Amino acid sequence: MPDSSLPAPVSPRSATPRSASPPTTPPRPRQDEQLGIFGEPRRLFVCTPSKLSAYTDCPRRYRFSYVDRPRPVKGPPWAHNSLGASVHNALRSWFDLPPGRRIPEAAATLLKAGWITDGYRDAAQQRLAFRTALDWLESYVARLDPAAEPVGVERTVATTTATLSVQGRADRIDERVGPDGRPEVVVVDYKTGRTGLDADDARGSQALALYAVAASRTFRKPCRRVELHHLPTATIAAHEHTVESLERQVRRAEQTAADIVAAERSVAGGDDPDQVFPPSPGSLCGWCDYRRHCPEGSATPGQEPWAAVERALTGPGSG
Ligand code: SF4
Repeated sequence: MPDSSLPAPVSPRSATPRSASPPTTPPRPRQDEQLGIFGEPRRLFVCTPSKLSAYTDCPRRYRFSYVDRPRPVKGPPWAHNSLGASVHNALRSWFDLPPGRRIPEAAATLLKAGWITDGYRDAAQQRLAFRTALDWLESYVARLDPAAEPVGVERTVATTTATLSVQGRADRIDERVGPDGRPEVVVVDYKTGRTGLDADDARGSQALALYAVAASRTFRKPCRRVELHHLPTATIAAHEHTVESLERQVRRAEQTAADIVAAERSVAGGDDPDQVFPPSPGSLCGWCDYRRHCPEGSATPGQEPWAAVERALTGPGSG
């Protein structure tokens, strides 16, 4: 999952009712509803966590991304997205190395091989960003066990619920021993934004919760723990979900999907898209790819493509 936190990153298996789920197992798909045993198959809303969050953040932005065709032309690429994707590329390649070559000195080669140049102000800023990202990486991989093999690296996981077919690509999925002594899988999400993260960020992330549900389906193991690994501050923000907290996140996602389906039907029925997908102007507008197409968002000053990176490299506490 490329880092989207900066202002702007299978198998259904049981018809067992949720109430019969063991206490450490995330909510299960309701197969009777999916397969339409007693009627027509229910059409599931196909989505990723980022698609759902796009609507939650701003219905107008969702419309630009997923409804309007042809899609409005986006603004220029963001340097912070390039930086985040470059670090993700290096960490993916790290696990392609044989364990004996997983040493911090390898980070420079990996970062260089996957470096993305888009969005920076100039070559000097890009060089500084590279050196900073290399510091983050060397520090991070020095604390990894070279012999540890994740069960998934940039692995697509997917699941279905009563109304959703959700899939996404998790940065990393580890298998570890859970609090009850049994193996479980853990969702790891790398973050490279300037701001540090805490347990509330991990707890409140709908994307991480949906990944946890999907990872549990995919690997057929409990998945309760989700972790945000913030490379600039070398910190980990973690949360242990319960079946109930995962259920709540799934229900929220289903409600968002229901709202989207209703809005899309409304537009298909002839209603005004500007009314049905209203703007949510705010601080994110300055970082929105579609700001130039949005009269309400255009009232907010736009940010330079390199602005977030500049703050990360020069602001207090920068790496
Ligand atoms: S500019 Fe702001 S209000 Fe307009 S689509 Fe983007 S985020 Fe939404």
